[in-house]
Amino acid sequence: MTGFSFFRLSPAPSSPPPSSTTRQLSAYLPSPRELTNYMREALTNPAQGYYTRRGGVGESGDFVTSPEMSQVFGELIGVWYVSEWMAAGKPGAFQLVELGPGRGSLTHDILRVFKQLASLLSKCDISIHLVEVSPRLSEIQAQMLTGGQVQSSPRDDPVYMKGISKTGIPISWYRDIQDVPQGYSFYLAHEFFDALPIHKFQRTDRGWREVLVDEDPEVPDQLRFVLAPSATPVCLCWPCDFSILLAHRLEKDGGAALIADYGHDGTKTDTFRGFRNHKLHDVLKAPGTADLTADVDFSYLRKMTQGRTATLGPIKQREFLKNMGIDLRLQVLLQNSQDTATQKQLRNSYDMLMNPKKMGDCFNFFALLPHHRLTYPDQKDNTQPRAPLVPVAGFGELSLK
Ligand code: SAH
Repeated sequence: MTGFSFFRLSPAPSSPPPSSTTRQLSAYLPSPRELTNYMREALTNPAQGYYTRRGGVGESGDFVTSPEMSQVFGELIGVWYVSEWMAAGKPGAFQLVELGPGRGSLTHDILRVFKQLASLLSKCDISIHLVEVSPRLSEIQAQMLTGGQVQSSPRDDPVYMKGISKTGIPISWYRDIQDVPQGYSFYLAHEFFDALPIHKFQRTDRGWREVLVDEDPEVPDQLRFVLAPSATPVCLCWPCDFSILLAHRLEKDGGAALIADYGHDGTKTDTFRGFRNHKLHDVLKAPGTADLTADVDFSYLRKMTQGRTATLGPIKQREFLKNMGIDLRLQVLLQNSQDTATQKQLRNSYDMLMNPKKMGDCFNFFALLPHHRLTYPDQKDNTQPRAPLVPVAGFGELSLK
């Protein structure tokens, strides 16, 4: 999300001297350029972008995510969607739309839950829709979810790949969320918003100025931050675009969105950073070879929904998972596992997900829901008794009543 930088910056020169640093990566962009354009090129440029070319999710990559660590994570999220589907009166069809599925592990674990609950879901027409820009990662997802049984479409087709999951559910791949068909949908974005390009600003004597990325005239092949000499017309950054679109869709078609990410509720400023080989990496060095990320400001996402949907959270990952019954699930898995190595692995991954010093506190869950899910529409006849609204799982303590 929009971050605010407090380090010292030089003003942007009017005509930057040429250098070879980023010519390969972003020859098309004028320099100095907005951070959001720099990030977009560094992450998703078709030939050189980090996700498109490298996409290092997983232990052998640059960062490990919760679904990669433990099957329990995706299972509990699967239960969350089934619970919301039931609370909505079991509609006859739903789409599960995952934004940025990485290696596909999360949807894989969710599909296992759908299969286990097949008797409950048998009359429901389910389809999976994956929004992924990386050809490399979409191949890994196809392998994970369908065993590689997919059909590719011509380049200009918005659905660039189709297949059937190992559990028999149709899956479609898109580059852009706008191309996902409208309809009652459950959206999922795990570590997706933090990968979207941001703008950055600094307060100066003359008001807020945008932070730009420029080639360093003193040092060949080096980039530096500069300040825009005057106020820049700032268009919305991508996280805002996505949250507005989700809110519009949920208001119109119904469903729910679950967003889980590094983040805060408007309490932090500059969180822009890079990761390479599990270590912090200078965001301006070797663009395209490292993951660039910024914490999600959930207060801003809430603002961007502009009252079209209700929101819940952010709530810390360890609280959400606890409310979803992670302790019980761990006990069942421990009882079912025969060897001590598996039990150790289960305990270690539980600790990674839940420990406040690991992922338990810095990751948050946030939900967008249609208003009627949380509050009754104004009813003229107040004399009719009302059935209590079903609480939203995960955001309050699990009630076993
Ligand atoms: N959700 C996964 C992966 C997170 S990494 C997990 O938790 O393991 C971010 C994912 O978003 C990657 O799959 C990346 O290729 C994808 N991505 C990044 N920018 C994107 C964009 N603009 N549109 C669609 N997908 C994008």
